[in-house]
Amino acid sequence: MTQVNCRFCNSKLNNVIIDLGESPLANSYLKKEDFEQEKFFRLKVYICSKCFLVQIEEIEAPEEIFSNYAYFSSYSQSWLTHAKKFTEMITTKFNFNKNSLVIEIASNDGYLLQYFQQKKIPILGIEPASNIAQVAISKNIPTKNVFFESKIALDLVKDGKQADLIIGNNVLAHVPKLNDFIKGLKILLKDTGIISLEFPHLLQLMKFNQFDTIYHEHFSYFSLITLKNIFSHHNLKIFDVDELKTHGGSLRIYITHIENNKVSKNENVENLINKEKEFGLDQIKTYENFSKNTINIKNELIEFLKISKKNWNVFFLKNNFDVLHVSKNDDFLKSFVKLLPKGTARKFF
Ligand SMILES: [Zn+2]
Repeated sequence: MTQVNCRFCNSKLNNVIIDLGESPLANSYLKKEDFEQEKFFRLKVYICSKCFLVQIEEIEAPEEIFSNYAYFSSYSQSWLTHAKKFTEMITTKFNFNKNSLVIEIASNDGYLLQYFQQKKIPILGIEPASNIAQVAISKNIPTKNVFFESKIALDLVKDGKQADLIIGNNVLAHVPKLNDFIKGLKILLKDTGIISLEFPHLLQLMKFNQFDTIYHEHFSYFSLITLKNIFSHHNLKIFDVDELKTHGGSLRIYITHIENNKVSKNENVENLINKEKEFGLDQIKTYENFSKNTINIKNELIEFLKISKKNWNVFFLKNNFDVLHVSKNDDFLKSFVKLLPKGTARKFF
C-alpha cells in the first residue's frame, strides 16, 4: 500500500473516513468501443488528524482530467444568474472600476467575466481546458490557456499583471498541489486586493451525508476551520464568508493579505467556525460516524430500489453515481441498464 500524506500539512494520513470502492471517473463519457477498457479507480476518503483536511488521493494527472473538459458553465442558466448577481454585489461592495483588474482561475467559457467586461472592468481568465479556453477567446474574453500554479502567477506579475480581485469558483476542491496554488494566489494579489472563492461546504456534506459529491476530481473537502489555518499559513486571512445554496450548500470566502488593514473582519467568520465546532468538525470521531451513516444509506437505497421497480430508470438517471457505489458488478444493477432509454446507458458505463 502506498503511503498517503496530507495535501496541506504533509502528515501521514492514517484515518480513512469512507471507502467508496472502485469507481470510474465521473466525467468520462465513453463511446461503445471503449466500454471494455473503462478504468476504475479506488475512491477512498481520508481525514488528516492534524489539520482536519478531508481529502482523497490524487489518482490521475490533473492536466489529463482538465485539459479537455466536458463542462461548459454557460449552458446552465441558473449558474449564469448566480454569476451576474455576484458581479453586481462584489463590484458595488469593493468599488471595482476601469482601473481594476479582475482575474478568474478556471474561468471556463467566460460565463462570469463577461459581466465584468460589460461594466468596462479589465479582466483576464485562466482556463486549463483548451477546448473551453478557445470558446472564451472566440467571445473576446482574454484567456490564458494554462493550469494555474505559482509559476504562472510569477510570469503574470513580471508582465505587470496583478489583481484587485481574484475569483475561483469551484476550483479549490480540484487543486492537487494546494500549497503551491495558494502561494500563486498570494503572488498574483495586489496589496489591497481581494480573493473570492466558492466551494462546497464540508459541513453540509457531513450533515446531510452528501457522499454523492465525493468523486475523483474533488481532491479536497473543506471546512472553514481548516481553511482558516491553511490561508493563515500562507500569510493570508479570511475576513468574511457567505453561505450559499449552490451545489448542496457552499461557502464563499473573502480573503486578503494578512497585512491589509483596509478591510475589517466580519463576525460571520467566527460564527461559522463555532457552528462547525458545535457539529464536531474539529474532532475525529465525527468523521467516523459519517462512514456509518453512509453505509446505512446505501443499505436503505438498495431496499428502496427493490420495492420501487417501476421507478428504477428515473431514479438511476438522476443518481447514477450513488447507484454505482452500490456495486459495479451487481446483477441487480445490470438489470437497471436494460430499463434505461436507449443510448443513455453509455453515459454511465
Ligand atoms: Zn494535514
